[in-house]
Amino acid sequence: MNKKIGIMGGTFNPIHIGHLLAASSALETFELDEVMFIPNNIPPHRRNEEFLVSGELRYQMVSLAIESNPQFSVSREEIDRKEVSFTSDTVTRLKEKMPDVDFTFITGMDSLMKNKWYKLDNLLEMLERFVAVTRPGFSPGEFEAARKELCLENDNKISMMEMPAVGVSSTMIRERIRSGKSVRYMIPEKVESFILEHHLYK
Ligand code: ATP
Ligand code: MG
Repeated sequence: MNKKIGIMGGTFNPIHIGHLLAASSALETFELDEVMFIPNNIPPHRRNEEFLVSGELRYQMVSLAIESNPQFSVSREEIDRKEVSFTSDTVTRLKEKMPDVDFTFITGMDSLMKNKWYKLDNLLEMLERFVAVTRPGFSPGEFEAARKELCLENDNKISMMEMPAVGVSSTMIRERIRSGKSVRYMIPEKVESFILEHHLYK
């Protein structure tokens, strides 16, 4: 049987418990062998509106967050490229490197609906499945509508997965840090210490 790897893409600015719980829920639900976190390059239009935190620092925070879980890994696949990567190009490269792996792409319902997915049908063809995990603020009805609206040939590969609701976002974490509020229990302790040490999001 082929190895089954989940791919969790995101900006992870910073990584928080919502990301970690989404990954471990998908691991359990789909009996994956491993979940690989792939921090992306922040698109140029987002660099001004947000606190600029380099790919390297976001990568290090993901590494700290996952180090105690042998089934989690982190990849430099996107941050080592200068440009902004499309998921379909990233998965094409992963498939070239690991042809015998079945990949499950894990994303939040908000990203499925709001992002413009470049060559989504093409991406679905390469994947075993594409999972949209539930996130507070997004209903299962909206998911069905979004899936229909995409009008894809391979839309049978898109499924929804329920996970325990976590109403935490990276935006919330950045805002809380900026205004001096606690982020304890929202992000792993080691990530919190790293942020303090590097004076991020201030
Ligand atoms: P930001 O507020 O900066 O957009 P974010 O919390 O949405 O940050 P991202 O790095 O954008 O984090 O998200 C990476 C992936 O994780 C996305 O697919 C997103 O939908 C999903 N995700 C993030 N937070 C949660 C959460 N609390 N529950 C479920 N999925 C989540
Ligand atoms: Mg987001």
